[in-house]
Amino acid sequence: MSVTPLEYVWLVTGANRGIGLELTKQLLRNPSNIVLAACRNPDQAAALNEVAQAANGRVHVLCLDVTDRSSIRDAFSEATRILGDKGIDYLLNNAAINLRDWDSAFTLDPDVMQQVFETNVVGPAYITQVFLPLVEKSAKKMVVNVSSELGRFNADFGTRSTSYSVAKAGLNMLTYKQQKERPDIVFISLCPGWLKTDMGGQEAPNDVAVGVEGVIKTILGLTPVDSGKFFNWKGQELSW
Ligand code: NDP
Repeated sequence: MSVTPLEYVWLVTGANRGIGLELTKQLLRNPSNIVLAACRNPDQAAALNEVAQAANGRVHVLCLDVTDRSSIRDAFSEATRILGDKGIDYLLNNAAINLRDWDSAFTLDPDVMQQVFETNVVGPAYITQVFLPLVEKSAKKMVVNVSSELGRFNADFGTRSTSYSVAKAGLNMLTYKQQKERPDIVFISLCPGWLKTDMGGQEAPNDVAVGVEGVIKTILGLTPVDSGKFFNWKGQELSW
């Protein structure tokens, strides 16, 4: 595949539905963007495959289960093959789960907590490690860990979603550690806001399109001084 110097490559995990699918759709509005749209079951990703088919080669659907190390390594090999000598400008660790909205510190199921941690923290950590050579090769060198205000200290969300909140706080620390080790790459945590998706539910205040527009605008406005910080979808910096 030939990519002209004016094109930017994005990798989006969890691209088959929700925020990941909407990111893929909105990124395609800019003809400069190439999207590697990763999901764990490409054969069942009807909506994403439809978007990819209409995108004239600008969307490449990759098979990637964030909890499966070999699938992550295989996806890296496939991405390297597709991109040739180009890198990944924006790596968006978007895929995540929130299995039990109601779990509290004293009711949580440790197996569920482990699964949430594996998907929401270990997966993004390993994906960024494995894909680092492609990020290093790119012009923009940006890694976005899609986080949540539920992972913030001092944000009063009560006792619910404990496993998810602990995992997102862990993801935020990962962002901090990544930035400390690699000051040449921009790493941020970003909360997309409460959006109408399977995870957010229909009672969420905003449509997914509204939040994703803000997410893309925020990412495009990033500069190296923003690395190691936490932002919301309006581009405002958040305290940890
Ligand atoms: P959805 O539940 O709608 O979608 C989750 C996505 O993650 C799906 O594509 C799902 O794929 C994928 N996924 C889950 N587990 C895996 C896995 N093991 N391997 C690969 N993909 C996986 O969630 P949203 O789109 O709403 O959330 C996207 C991100 O935004 C998450 O990081 C979430 O924490 C964050 N966020 C969302 C908010 C909201 O209100 N919606 C608020 C704050 C943060 P599959 O279909 O295969 O399950």
